[in-house]
Amino acid sequence: MSVILSRRLFLASSAAILATRAAAADKIKPGPTSALLVIDVQNCFVDGGTLPVKGGAQIVPVINKLAPAFENVVVTQDWHTPGHTSFASAHAGKKPFETTQLSYGTQVLWPDHCVQGSEDAALLKDLKVPTAQLVVRKGFHKEVDSYSAFEEADRKTTTGLGAYLKARGIDTVFLVGLATDFCVAWSAVDARKLGFTAYVIEDATRAIDLNGSLAAAWKQMTDAGVKRIQSADIQTA
Ligand SMILES: [Zn+2]
Repeated sequence: MSVILSRRLFLASSAAILATRAAAADKIKPGPTSALLVIDVQNCFVDGGTLPVKGGAQIVPVINKLAPAFENVVVTQDWHTPGHTSFASAHAGKKPFETTQLSYGTQVLWPDHCVQGSEDAALLKDLKVPTAQLVVRKGFHKEVDSYSAFEEADRKTTTGLGAYLKARGIDTVFLVGLATDFCVAWSAVDARKLGFTAYVIEDATRAIDLNGSLAAAWKQMTDAGVKRIQSADIQTA
């Protein structure tokens, strides 16, 4: 091998090593002031559940891989009373996925789902987040829905999550879960409203996409300053 060729090879391999190091350095390493918010990874929202989100169960291994990279993990559960106002069955003449007007505005009506204490409302058994420190249950007021983990749909009643995170010195949240265009999006936008830096890890979410709701949700999130990333952007072990 000529000296010139071997030098070229040396430079090329050095460049490759530097590029690998740069890629690792570009990854986000969640610190003590960050929390992973695992939104509604419940039986109701996957195949076999009452309100399945297409591909919902596929996010579980992604979340299981991400969770150990976070010192702080919070899990949420949609947790409705029987006969909840968000259920079409509670409104005479209405079918699931139609809308109605409630005191706080337009409400999408859903099949009965995530009823308190039911197997349907349980977390997916394959979800492995043993380090989760808080489980927030939402949507438990019979007359008010709550897509957001932070604030109920009347836009007045807090779940307490914002105060909890602030009390623990957490300023940044990373959102994963179901569904991208409803509970994840509302939670992410509310996180921004409360002053948190917010990332949605897109490949760790799945959407319902009802009448263009996914595109609308991404626009709202982007306008609110929510950052859209992929699980590969996070430094995991
Ligand atoms: Zn619900």
